[in-house]
Amino acid sequence: MYTANPKRYEKMKYNRVGKSGLLLPQLSLGFWQNFGEEKPFEEVKEIVLAAFDHGITHFDLANNYGRPWGSAESNLGKILANELKPYRDELVISTKAGYYMWAGPYGDMGSRKYLFSSLNQSLKRLNLEYVDIFYHHRPDYDTPLEETMKALADIVHMGKALYVGISNYPAVRALEAKKLLKEYGVDLLIHQPKFSMLNRWIQDEGLVDAMVKEGVGIIPFSILSQGLLTTKYLNEIPKDSRAGDKDNPFLNESHITKEVLEKVIKLNELAIERGQTLAEMAVSWTCQSRGISSVLLGVSKMSQLLSNLKALDHLEFSKEELAKIESIVR
Ligand code: NDP
Repeated sequence: MYTANPKRYEKMKYNRVGKSGLLLPQLSLGFWQNFGEEKPFEEVKEIVLAAFDHGITHFDLANNYGRPWGSAESNLGKILANELKPYRDELVISTKAGYYMWAGPYGDMGSRKYLFSSLNQSLKRLNLEYVDIFYHHRPDYDTPLEETMKALADIVHMGKALYVGISNYPAVRALEAKKLLKEYGVDLLIHQPKFSMLNRWIQDEGLVDAMVKEGVGIIPFSILSQGLLTTKYLNEIPKDSRAGDKDNPFLNESHITKEVLEKVIKLNELAIERGQTLAEMAVSWTCQSRGISSVLLGVSKMSQLLSNLKALDHLEFSKEELAKIESIVR
């Protein structure tokens, strides 16, 4: 029997997403890696319930999360059917489609055929009748944007999702998407881009300015650069790390360059001065960045979740600290 922590809403901050009515927690939990069959289910469940007990009311998924793909949704589906069943209305569940998911012409990209089939599959795995946010996961320049956005709008009109978002869209395409959705009677809620102290494209290429102006929220991913913005890679590549996992194509030795490590050492000195770990400082820095509604945490261990939650205790930066970070990373 699970009963949620009665104090779960005492510490978390909830931010309005753009100009919408929806509030998201300052910290959301992402299920890309470590939440599928690659991890024992009991461990997944423990981390998910601990997140909820700390006020993390938003879980971010996609059709292809977990190994094998879909297993992160299936795992959350089991928890939603049991421990979290009484709490469905306290949760925001997001999922996406847009990357390769199944063989043949209908399991990838941005057609109406793919988005509807994929969302129907996700709903089955999640044991849900609707998701709160459904995203198109990446831009598809071969499918008319009208078709992709009409599919998203129809998904909302049919009640299969309450809100829609886009991910990895550059600014111009995002603005076009927003305009089309509006024509189809739906507001674009949120954009999910990659963003961290080390990856600043959303600021440099006008995405933040555009989304803030249009009242669209932003929820960034890989805010720790997949673990590079921690001290774990300073001496060696630990076996139990993402880069140490030879079956993981997303982070490897080639990303751990001398240049990155030099920045990490300097950033870590500043984090120590602030009384934080580097991971905590990276989370705090991302939270305070302009236009950010919530940030996505990716964790492989309970200790990482608890450490990242501590970032909430120290979200403020002095002008000098911000300038120092710029001088290190830019
Ligand atoms: P991060 O950049 O935060 O990387 C997470 C990794 O950082 C963890 O697996 C862990 O690495 C390490 N880490 C986290 N906290 C700590 C800590 N306190 N101390 C030490 N190491 C720590 O995020 P992800 O790249 O995992 O992405 C987060 C989420 O964003 C995903 O789950 C998904 O929901 C979303 N996402 C969306 C994408 C999109 O295209 N829309 C693409 C990618 C992600 P280790 O495993 O080595 O322990």
